Amino acid sequence: MDKKIYLSESEMPAHWYNIIADMPNKPLPPLHPGTKQPVGPEDLAPLFPMELIKQEVSTERYHEIPDQVREIYKLWRPTPLVRATALEKALDTPAKIYFKYEGTSPSGSHKPNTAVAQAYYNKQEGVRKITTETGAGQWGTALSFACQQFGIECDVYMVRISYDQKPYRKMIMKTFGANIFASPSRNTNAGRAILEADPHSNGSLGIAISEAIEMAAQHDDTKYSLGSVLNHVLMHQTIIGQECIKQLEMTGDFPDVIVAPLGGGSNFAGISFPFLRYNFAEGKKIRCVAVEPASCPKLTRGVFKYDFGDTAGYTPLLPMYTLGHNFMPDAIHAGGLRYHGASVLCSQLLKDGLIEAVAAQQLECFEAGLLFSKTEGILPAPEATHAIYQVIEEARRCKREGKSETILFNLCGHGFFDLQAYEDYFAGKLMNHHMSDAQLHTNLAELEALQPA
Ligand SMILES: *Cc1c(COP(=O)(O)O)cnc(C)c1O
Repeated sequence: MDKKIYLSESEMPAHWYNIIADMPNKPLPPLHPGTKQPVGPEDLAPLFPMELIKQEVSTERYHEIPDQVREIYKLWRPTPLVRATALEKALDTPAKIYFKYEGTSPSGSHKPNTAVAQAYYNKQEGVRKITTETGAGQWGTALSFACQQFGIECDVYMVRISYDQKPYRKMIMKTFGANIFASPSRNTNAGRAILEADPHSNGSLGIAISEAIEMAAQHDDTKYSLGSVLNHVLMHQTIIGQECIKQLEMTGDFPDVIVAPLGGGSNFAGISFPFLRYNFAEGKKIRCVAVEPASCPKLTRGVFKYDFGDTAGYTPLLPMYTLGHNFMPDAIHAGGLRYHGASVLCSQLLKDGLIEAVAAQQLECFEAGLLFSKTEGILPAPEATHAIYQVIEEARRCKREGKSETILFNLCGHGFFDLQAYEDYFAGKLMNHHMSDAQLHTNLAELEALQPA
């Protein structure tokens, strides 16, 4: 039996999969916050190229991956599928565990899968510059790389506190040619207003989003780009799951359970949506489990309501599981999972009982990540440890029940830029965080005014 299952470059899937074509209940439309009417393409045109707006609302099942995008994907794709034999042995489980390793990409995570596609469509439509926000730096790095490939300028608004605390992420973005601004910055009205009130503001993702959107809206040759949540982003990530389907075919195994961490939902969607098609089309019963941090539990404790995608309230209202756009999660190390809402597609699927969600505590996740590192030799990103935690739970259940199920999970990134998190863990500085009901209710009460009549 092979440890690693590789596809050749010519076997790379030629299409992305659009789950909207197969969903029993289609997602509700995004609404304009002023009129509470569905937003049209013209509302989004200042920010996104038309092809991405079309993809956002498309009901076509498959979208062809452009040749130029496939060529760039070849720098790191197809990514390996690995049988976690050493982890299986350590757990003494009858389950088979496979992981898809997305850490081989230029930024060390799954995010370039959509960054390259987005940069391509912007280039096609003559866009000269793309603006975006980044928190810890994963998305900024991915987009910087993608823009560099197409000769597009890239302005990254990086949350001030990360800008100061994560110098190495900043440095990678620089090597890819991006301009990086600490947010709040003096470039925008939004940034200047914040600095006026508080010259030493740490910034937030919400402020950085506002700055990036403002710059794109004000310049004809500039657009904005988002690294998760939106339908087209999730669709671009389905290359992950489609590769897994081909790779698992080569082993003769088929997943009973698929596990991935969920921040906005893109890597979870990427690995699980192509398999959900087997549930929809062939009546298979694959369980797809999204794992969120207990400190930011929108799926397990949030509500399904219309809410803004950002803190400042610049985006359309999206129907999603949310903790409220003013929710401030604790400073856990899995920065990519600290988002108040879940993508519309994942939210609708959860509401309809077609996927599952669990919440995991930070310390248990780091323990799981260390066991994985000791057995399989890859230090996982703090986000990815959430999936590993749940995989271990499932493998132990299989042992108790005497079942040899096949478990597949997304190792969505490596942790080589998150070593501070591991240092804090070893120093005993990490805590578990719990969100109180009071905290939850305050933020959710603010949502009532946003709901359509
Ligand atoms: C950004 C990120 C996430 C969370 O985003 P999703 O859209 O939910 O995938 C998870 N893991 C890593 C490594 C990330 O960089």
